[in-house]
Amino acid sequence: LSERLSGVLDRLTRQGALSEDDVKTALREVRVALLEADVSLPVAREFIKKVQDQATGQSVTKSVTPGQQVVKIVHDALVDTLTGEGDPGALKIDNPPAPILMVGLQGSGKTTTTAKLAKRLKERDGKRVLMASLDVNRPAAMEQLEILGRQIGVDTLPIVKGEDPVAIAKRAKTQASLGGYDVYMLDTAGRLHIDQELIAQAAAVRDVANPRETLLVVDGLTGQDAVNVAEEFDDKIGVSGVVLTRMDGDGRGGAALSMRAVTGKPIRFVGLGEKMDALETFEPERIAGRILGMGDIVSLVEKAQETIEAEQAERMMKRFQKGQFNMNDLKMQLEQMQKMGGMEGVMGMMPGMGKMAKQMETAGIDDKVLVRQIALIQSMTKKERANPKLLQASRKKRIAKGAGLEVSELNKLLKMQRQMGDMMKKMGKMGKGGMLKQAMK
Ligand code: GDP
Ligand code: MG
Repeated sequence: LSERLSGVLDRLTRQGALSEDDVKTALREVRVALLEADVSLPVAREFIKKVQDQATGQSVTKSVTPGQQVVKIVHDALVDTLTGEGDPGALKIDNPPAPILMVGLQGSGKTTTTAKLAKRLKERDGKRVLMASLDVNRPAAMEQLEILGRQIGVDTLPIVKGEDPVAIAKRAKTQASLGGYDVYMLDTAGRLHIDQELIAQAAAVRDVANPRETLLVVDGLTGQDAVNVAEEFDDKIGVSGVVLTRMDGDGRGGAALSMRAVTGKPIRFVGLGEKMDALETFEPERIAGRILGMGDIVSLVEKAQETIEAEQAERMMKRFQKGQFNMNDLKMQLEQMQKMGGMEGVMGMMPGMGKMAKQMETAGIDDKVLVRQIALIQSMTKKERANPKLLQASRKKRIAKGAGLEVSELNKLLKMQRQMGDMMKKMGKMGKGGMLKQAMK
């Protein structure tokens, strides 16, 4: 028997948690995937290191291999890194007319993106938009914007030959105010490489326009280069967001990760083609999937996790129906409440319970209580948690003292556990949704 037991234990430890070797082996493959996706080498290296520390020791979901688990952890870390603050699609365009400045290298897709964004603002947000080309280097560039404007039904600032970019920006501002526009977009000239003149020009335009958003347009197919460009622009001009174009190409979008990791700037939109509606709000999940190229594994692990959660919930329900509700269960419920934003959060989600949450608050049952209650349960032994009836007066005193609380508080907790146990039992008998039906009556 002991032999069989140790065999089982062996398997358990191997399946239970990710060993350093498991993680290393899996990350070797991930590293290749990142580099193939054009993530820059230092960023890939840094990222792998972070995940390595994070993943080692984490538990492995049943029916999933360690390698698959690591892939899922990497995926989540990618999404985390790619996610910027706030809603990427929400542009600051209150206080009309709001200026939006578009900057970037030549050929990155500024003019195209200007028109795409204008179309989006017009159609989705019902904004009146004026577009102006400040590209005095290439005469055809101004006409390009004009043509696009006609195509999407958005006004462009009339072209005046011989004006410099700052003068055009001023005229755009005046025209936008007089014409009652909500937004005016300034499409600047680019160059093949960053140089002093380009930066100085963009800075001068920025100073007269005072843009609410300065969007840097970069070609998503250029890996490390894109990142250098972004750093430089952000340094000199100040950038509020990035638009990655040509994400319809066959690149895997690694520039997105490098961009986020190095500049910390939020990616706001991605360009997915030459057509005017080929612009989408940046979605970290989607890009993460593309960079890693292991979407099947990620969804496999997600499904396995869901199955296990469902099984756990089912098992718990069965126990509750039999009237088994111990301190471990209570702790889990309390932690769940904490996660959902405390009492008010939980109650607020149930119809008619918002008021009750307020009452409980005034009665002194607030979120700090949750923390204290969880501390009390943590001070109990395993046996005591499983069967709180074992608690004698002396042990109660010790536990309360250990948590720095009064025994009365522990007694309240015990009462709560009994009451909730009773409630769960009844709820189980009523079947699914029974309690909610009752609460709504
Ligand atoms: P600018 O010099 O920065 O203003 O760049 P343009 O807007 O003139 O774009 C240069 C070229 O890239 C044009 O032929 C565009 O049609 C093309 N382009 C721009 N954005 C995208 C995109 O997201 N996907 C693809 N495939 N082509 C794009
Ligand atoms: Mg252009």
